[in-house]
Amino acid sequence: MSVSYHSQEKDVVISSLGSNEEGLSRKEAEKRKEIYGENSIEKGETESLWKIAGRQFTSPMVFLLIIAAGLSFAFQEWADGIAILIVILLNAVIGFYMEFQARKSMESLKKMVSLKAKVLRDGEVYEIPSLEVVPGDILLLEAGDMIMADARIISLKQLEVDEAVLTGESLPVTKCDNILPEDTTLAERNNMVYRGTYVTRGNAKAIVTATGMSTELGNIALLVKNAAPSTTPLEKKLTTFSQKLIYVTLFLVLVIFFTGLLQGKDLISMLSTSIALAVAAIPEGLPIVATLALANGMLKMAKHNVIVKKLAAVETLGGTNVICTDKTGTLTENKITASNAVFPGFDGDITASTNSHQINSENLNKIIEACILCNTAVIKKDGDSLTEIGDPLEVGLLHFASSYGYDINKKRKEQPIHSEIPFSSETKVMGSLHPSSNGYIVFAKGAVEEVISRSSRLLNNNEIVSLSDKDKQHWLAASEKLSGQGLKVLGFAYKETNEIEADFLNDLIFTGMLGLIDPPRHDVPAAIQECKNAGIKIIMITGDHPATARNIAERLGIFDSGESERVIHGKEMKEYAQLSEEEKTILTETRVFARVSPEQKLELVTLLQEKGNIVGMTGDGVNDSPALKKADIGIAMGERGTQVAQEVSDMVLKDDSFTSIVVAIREGRIIFENIKKFVTYLLSCNLSELFVVTLAFLLNLPYLLTPLQILFINLVTDVLPALALGVTSGNKQIMQRTPRDPGRAIITKNQWIAISTYSIVITVCVLLSVSSDKYFALLGVELNEMYHNNILFFTLMFSQLVHVFNMASSGAGFLNNEVIKNKYVWLAILATLAIIFLAYLIKPIREVLSIQLMEPEYWLLPFGFSFLSLIVIQLLKKLRVVR
Ligand code: ATP
Repeated sequence: MSVSYHSQEKDVVISSLGSNEEGLSRKEAEKRKEIYGENSIEKGETESLWKIAGRQFTSPMVFLLIIAAGLSFAFQEWADGIAILIVILLNAVIGFYMEFQARKSMESLKKMVSLKAKVLRDGEVYEIPSLEVVPGDILLLEAGDMIMADARIISLKQLEVDEAVLTGESLPVTKCDNILPEDTTLAERNNMVYRGTYVTRGNAKAIVTATGMSTELGNIALLVKNAAPSTTPLEKKLTTFSQKLIYVTLFLVLVIFFTGLLQGKDLISMLSTSIALAVAAIPEGLPIVATLALANGMLKMAKHNVIVKKLAAVETLGGTNVICTDKTGTLTENKITASNAVFPGFDGDITASTNSHQINSENLNKIIEACILCNTAVIKKDGDSLTEIGDPLEVGLLHFASSYGYDINKKRKEQPIHSEIPFSSETKVMGSLHPSSNGYIVFAKGAVEEVISRSSRLLNNNEIVSLSDKDKQHWLAASEKLSGQGLKVLGFAYKETNEIEADFLNDLIFTGMLGLIDPPRHDVPAAIQECKNAGIKIIMITGDHPATARNIAERLGIFDSGESERVIHGKEMKEYAQLSEEEKTILTETRVFARVSPEQKLELVTLLQEKGNIVGMTGDGVNDSPALKKADIGIAMGERGTQVAQEVSDMVLKDDSFTSIVVAIREGRIIFENIKKFVTYLLSCNLSELFVVTLAFLLNLPYLLTPLQILFINLVTDVLPALALGVTSGNKQIMQRTPRDPGRAIITKNQWIAISTYSIVITVCVLLSVSSDKYFALLGVELNEMYHNNILFFTLMFSQLVHVFNMASSGAGFLNNEVIKNKYVWLAILATLAIIFLAYLIKPIREVLSIQLMEPEYWLLPFGFSFLSLIVIQLLKKLRVVR
C-alpha cells in the first residue's frame, strides 16, 4: 500500500518519514541503507551463476558430445567415454569462466557510470552515490539533474521537470509544493518528483519517499521485467555467422561420414569421428570471446578517462567518421581570464601586467559591478585553498573583479539578487535585479549582439547618451575585432528602475565589453591531425561568435592553414524542412558553425546521418540531450556535463577533453581489429582440422586423427591464442585508415580468401609431414609407421600455434608487429605447449589420446612442417596473395 504523500502537509510528510529540515543524521542514513537496501532498479533478475553454469551444458555441441560419450560407454570404450565427459566439463568450465569475466567487467563498468545525488545530512550538503539514497533523505535538485528517487517537494524555485519516461508527456511539467487532493493521478501530482525524470529548469528541495524498486519507475521495471541482456549488433552478427557455419560444417561432416561408410569403415568409429569433427569445427565460442574483447576494451578506455556505457558503442566508435564537437571546455581549457576591454574612451589590454588598473571610468566600474552581481559563481577561500564553484567564465569574471580590489562577498551582501533571468544557450544573456539606493538596478551580460539589441542608451563616462543604429554597428564591429583574436566576448549593460518587471532586460544602458581568453588545449591540434589522418571529419559547433570560432578553428587545425573556409552562423541556417539538396550538401561540408542553438545541433546530426555518416556528438546541457540521443555516439562531459546529458549519452569523458574521444576511437578500432583477428584465426584453424580429416578420408589415407585427438586439438590450441589475440594492442596504421563501413560484414570476401588459403596451406603442410616415409626412404631410413598418427597430430597443433603470428596486420614487419609484441600471445603459446607436452608425458592421457612416445629426432617433422606452413603463409602475405 503506497502512502499518498502528495495529499499531506509537508511537515507531516517530513515527520512521518522520521526526518527533519536538516536531513537525516549520517548514522540514521546508514541504518536505513541496511533496511531499505541499495537504491537501484534491477532491470529484471540478473542471471544467477548456477544458471550461467547450467547454460554451458545445453548447447547442441554438448548434446553431440553426450551422444559420443554414450556410444563409447555402450561399446565399453570406458577410457574414451570418460575422456569425452572430461572434454564436456572442460568446455563448460572455459565457457563459464569467459561469461563470468565478461559479467564482472560489465558490473565494474556499471559502477563507474552510477550517478551521484546531492542530499542534506546533519544539515550539510553531501554528494553521494545515488545507490546510497534512502527514504527520509532531503534531496537538493537543480537544472540538469536526474532525479534518483521518488520525493515530495518541500520548497522550490521555478522547478520544471521532464517526466516523459513515466507519463509520456513530452513537455516539462511545472511543479509546486502545495497539498493536492488524495485522488490526484500520478501525472498530475505536481508536488512530487519521480525517479528517472529530470529537472529542466529551476531548483528544489524534496524529501525522499521511496527508493529503488519501491519507486514508480521500479514498479514499471517490475512489470516489464526486461531480463534479456541486450546483445550488440556485432554479437548478433557473430551469432548468425556461427549458425551459418554450423550448416557448412554439418554438410562436410556428413560427406566424411558417408565416404567412410562407403570405404567400409566401422559405423561406430565413423559416428564418433564425425561428431568430434562437428564439435571441433563449429566456432560456437565466437560471440562470447567477442563480448570479452569488447568488455576488456571498455575497461581499458575507462583507464583513459572514457566511460563507455554500452558495449555496442565500442563497436560504433570504430566506424565513426564525423565528430561534432563543441568548443568551450572540449577544445579549449575552459580556464577563462579577462584580457581586453572596450568601452567609451578605452580599447586595450586590461591584464594585471598593464597599468589599466589606474583607469578611472564609470563604464569600467559598472562592468565590474555586473561581473560580481550578475554572476552565480562562487569562489570560497579557506586558508590557502581556493574552491571555485560554477561556470568557469563567471569564475574568471570574479577573479577579474577581485584584481581591481573589489570585495565580492561584501558587494553581494549589500546588493543581493532580487530576481534573475538565468543564462541559457538560446538567449545568450543573463540578467539580474538588485536593490539600490534609488530603487532597483538591473545588470546584464551576454553575447554582445544580444546585449546591444536590448540596449537603447550608452554610458559615456558620466553621461548617458542615446544609442543610435550607427553606434550599435560601431560596437558590433569592435566585438567582431576582439572575437577575431580568438577571444570570447561579453557585452555588459545596466539600468536603474523603480518597479520590478518580469522581463527587465530591455531599454538597457550599454556599458562596454570584455574580451576573455580561453586558451586552446595544447594536446588538441595533434588529436585533430590524428583524426584527419584517420579519415574522420571534425566539425566544431559552438554557441560562440563566428570570428572567435574561426580563430580557434584555425589555431587548432580544424581549418587547414591558408584555407578560406566558411563559418556558418546559426541565423543563416534554415529549418531542416526548408533546406534544398544543395543547401544540405553545403551544410554537411562545412566545418565550423557558430551561434548555434541546441535544436540546430539536432538538425545537423540528422543531416549528417542522412548522408550516411556515423556521427559522434559532444554535449553538456539539458538541451543537448536530443542531439546526444540522436547521434550514433552521444558523448557527454563528465566534469561540466549535466547528469541528463550523461544519462542519455553512450560515452562520458571524465576529463572533458577532445583528445579522449580520439583515444576512444583508436581503442574502438583496435577492438574491432582484434575481433577480426581471432575470428580469422579460429576459422582458419577449424577449417584446417576439417580439411585434414576430410582429405584423409577422401584419399583413404592410412593415418587418421582419432575423435579424442580432434577434441583435444580444439580445446587446447584454439582457446588460449584466440583469447590472447583479443587483447592485442593496436598497430601504427590503425589511425591511418579510413573508418570501417559499419554495414560491412565482419568477414569480407578478401578475408574468406585469406582464411581458405591459410587452411589449405596448413592442411598441405600437415599432410606432407605424414608423407615423410618417402623422404626417409630416400635417406635409406625406415619410418616407424606407428608414428604417422603422432606426426599428423602434432604438426596440426604446432601449425595452428605458429599460425597466430600470421594474424599480424599486413604491411608490418614479421619481427616488428603488434602480435609478436603481444606478451599474452607468447604466454598462450607457452601454456599450450606445456599442456601438449604434459599430455605426451603423462601415460594415461597419452594412452587415451592414442599417442606413442617417439625418439627425439622425430620431433623435427612436426616442428619443421609447422614452420614450413608459417613461412609459406608469410611469403603469400608478402606477395600480397592474401592480405
Ligand atoms: P560552446 O558552445 O562551444 O561550448 P560557448 O560556451 O561559448 O561555446 P554558449 O555557452 O552557448 O557557448 O555561449 C554563447 C555566448 O553566450 C558566448 O559567446 C558568450 O558571449 C555568452 N555567454 C556565455 N556564458 C555566459 C554567461 N554565463 N553569462 C552571460 N553570457 C554568457
